[in-house]
Amino acid sequence: MTWVYGFAHRHSRAPRDLKALLGGKGANLAEMTSVLALPVPPGFTITTEACRAYMLGGWPGDLTAEIDGHVRSLERFMGRRLGATEDPLLVSVRSGAAFSMPGMMDTVLDLGLNDDSVMGLAAGTDERFALDSYRRFLAMYGRIVLDVPGEPFDDLLEQARIDEGVRTDAEVPAERLDELVGRYKELIEAHTGSPFPQDPHVQLRGAIEAVFRSWDSPRARAYRRREGIADDLGTAVNVQSMVFGNRDDQSGTGVAFTRDPSTGASGAYGDFLVNAQGEDVVAGIRTTLPLDSMADLFPAVHTELTFILERLERHYRDMLDCEFTIEHGRLWMLQTRVGKRTGAAALRIAVALTEDPTIRISRAEAVQRVRPEHLDQVLHPQLGDVKAPLLATGLPASPGAAVGHAYFDADRAVEAAERGERVVLVRQETSPEDVHGMAVAQGVLTSRGGLVSHAAVVARGWGKPAVCGAESLNIGPTSMTAADGTVVAEGDWISLDGARGTVFLGELSLKEGNVPGEFGIVLGWADEIRAGRLGVRANADTGPDAARARELGAEGIGLCRTEHMFLQEDRLPVVRRMILADDPDEELAALAELLDVQRADFEEVLEAMDGLPVTVRLLDPPLHEFLPSVEELIVLDARGELPPEGQAMLTAARHWQEQNPMLGLRGVRLGIAKAGLYRMQVRALVEAALRRQAVGGRPVIEIMIPLVINLPELDLTRRWVEEEVATVLAEHDGRLDVIIGSMIETPRAAIRADDIAQAADFFSFGTNDLTQMTLGFSRDDVAPILESYLEQGLLGVDPFKSVDQRGVGELVATAVERGRTTKPGLKMGVCGEHGGDPESIAFFFGLGLDYVSCSPFRVPVARLAAAHAVLGAGGGVAADA
Ligand code: ADP
Ligand code: MG
Ligand code: MG
Repeated sequence: MTWVYGFAHRHSRAPRDLKALLGGKGANLAEMTSVLALPVPPGFTITTEACRAYMLGGWPGDLTAEIDGHVRSLERFMGRRLGATEDPLLVSVRSGAAFSMPGMMDTVLDLGLNDDSVMGLAAGTDERFALDSYRRFLAMYGRIVLDVPGEPFDDLLEQARIDEGVRTDAEVPAERLDELVGRYKELIEAHTGSPFPQDPHVQLRGAIEAVFRSWDSPRARAYRRREGIADDLGTAVNVQSMVFGNRDDQSGTGVAFTRDPSTGASGAYGDFLVNAQGEDVVAGIRTTLPLDSMADLFPAVHTELTFILERLERHYRDMLDCEFTIEHGRLWMLQTRVGKRTGAAALRIAVALTEDPTIRISRAEAVQRVRPEHLDQVLHPQLGDVKAPLLATGLPASPGAAVGHAYFDADRAVEAAERGERVVLVRQETSPEDVHGMAVAQGVLTSRGGLVSHAAVVARGWGKPAVCGAESLNIGPTSMTAADGTVVAEGDWISLDGARGTVFLGELSLKEGNVPGEFGIVLGWADEIRAGRLGVRANADTGPDAARARELGAEGIGLCRTEHMFLQEDRLPVVRRMILADDPDEELAALAELLDVQRADFEEVLEAMDGLPVTVRLLDPPLHEFLPSVEELIVLDARGELPPEGQAMLTAARHWQEQNPMLGLRGVRLGIAKAGLYRMQVRALVEAALRRQAVGGRPVIEIMIPLVINLPELDLTRRWVEEEVATVLAEHDGRLDVIIGSMIETPRAAIRADDIAQAADFFSFGTNDLTQMTLGFSRDDVAPILESYLEQGLLGVDPFKSVDQRGVGELVATAVERGRTTKPGLKMGVCGEHGGDPESIAFFFGLGLDYVSCSPFRVPVARLAAAHAVLGAGGGVAADA
């Protein structure tokens, strides 16, 4: 087994593709050295395999010998020796896993200095520089490798500055540095119980082992959990000869991007500092100079760097982020990697690289370079600086940032909005009675409920930022208290980031989303790639939502929730009357009233989606979402404030109250209990379609029955629907093709899809309910359970966010297979929230679904993710042409 590779090693594959073995940093150092022959300080990489071996069985027996061999080669190559009293070799020890992650060990610079070699360094440079390097090294090694607290080192240095009456570290004289070196060594000995290791080989072994150990640091582990990175990958360690940017005024260090990472503008971009080392540039202690000013200060180096950056970009065919150091007027490259970028930059760079004559990535590659987060960033406002105190973290329920005055009640939020205030609606959880407050709010914050809670679904549907299930907040009727005791009163400013789930106290600055022209170009390419493979529809319930969805590229409606039409305040009472009616006349009267509003709503939706399929789900209200709260009515009653009709309401509400409303009288069960209901809805829909036809429209209607568990249910309701369609068409002498399908959202329906397919023209997987019923997690109550499950690693991902592939996914796979056994080619789609989740989209594509449907604002992301899914399945070839 080879544990160690020199940067110049000739691997059989391009080193840049060996990140799993060499880590990202090591792979790119090797690429720059062995493939591009760029000026990189020589060094070697200890592989992730060595780290894995270390984690399993401790330091591998033969690792020391290999490292020693590489150190000797390095010494020969450099003509310097570790620990030498004359011109000693110094190295840095740098961690570098396959994925860059926080929590890994910080880089140790200047390793190899000791009481002897510091003299050697001084002889070759100057005394002050050597002593300052030794001082820095002792503090770094003490803090990073030996776990000595960092403040005492800083305190001693600060005291030295004060005593010497100087402002900066650079002015502390050599004698004083010498004294500091002594004090630092004492500090280390006092803390660790043994003297600072003078032997450079012992120093090196200690630093390497510390890198290995840092793989298991709590921060690194927490990060991996969040990002879904496996715990057994391990990190590589890079040992590299030092170059000194802090040697003199002919030296410096900096970072450079091959293009502007925030705007995507072409041309190198970056910062540098004269006479500085390592993290000085990013630490923000000194004001950096823009890269352009290097042209004056170091003209030759600037030319060389510009040339190297262009070459690197051409080689990697992407925007890169580089670290460089100038030592005595000589340029050294210390790191390169594909650069992080904003959403706008990602879109611009992707398109620009298809046009760049020296790079010319394909359109498919351009589409692959843009990530869903990039689209979120340009579509939604973002928080500017986030230095304000963090109040709480909840679920990232709907992307974008919101800043406003906190209001704890929908009515008061509306009043405040009417006064011209920006408001954030804060509730324990929301219900249909809060939607008017949500409508005027910049964003929504709840302490209860998961990613498919009412608040989350409505917010996403409207493209409003939302943080849900922020459990640590104690939300009351007029104020809330954070875990640390901070009280937020009504009217106080709060800011939230719905993509991260974070809530801040105060008014943070807001950067508006800004959609560059390249957005449409990239999504157009995405559409070409997925054409005929995976469709994207929207879940939209109203005309304006449908119009927006179409604008954002939806190819139809996959789920039109007819009860959502009744969430508006003026309609809620009618729905309630219908549900609570205890005699048929009352029910019919309510239904007739609903017919008119439904017809009007449907007309609007059909108009907005003219020529495209609209899947209408017949009524599926979990009753509790529509009924007044029994508790509230009881309180009113006790206070004698219940109006006369309230008494009947209370009786009825009590009657219909269910222990488990989500498993109660809803979906097709409600349709069967209220036999006139579905007929009314079908009538409204068909009449709306006929009206559309009369004005030249082309309505395309698909009716679907929710919550089916068996064939007889679907047979019965299908017959009703067919009869009503025929009746209405006959009345109007009209012609209209209507197809009728089944939601597949109960486990039984998925398993018996072969039966159900007999009466279904299509399937639509309602994966929210399917998840809830398969896992037995009530989606509105599951947030605290999920939190601890995710924390403890009992679940990898929130199953309401990304489909549980091995459970729920198996049921979907079964239903696809069995449904198509009965009816080959049966059209199938997904209309749960998972239809907007990139990972789930790829999964569903793999199962052979025809389309996904998601909230309107998610449509661009779904179009992109669908293209990624097709490309991931090897579909990129045609698109490359
Ligand atoms: P990170 O992964 O946090 O960026 P790095 O390993 O890149 O950590 O190192 C931190 C800083 O030290 C960077 O500025 C880097 O350029 C600098 N550095 C690392 N190795 C050397 C070296 N051999 N000579 C000079 N500077 C170095
Ligand atoms: Mg770095
Ligand atoms: Mg459902």
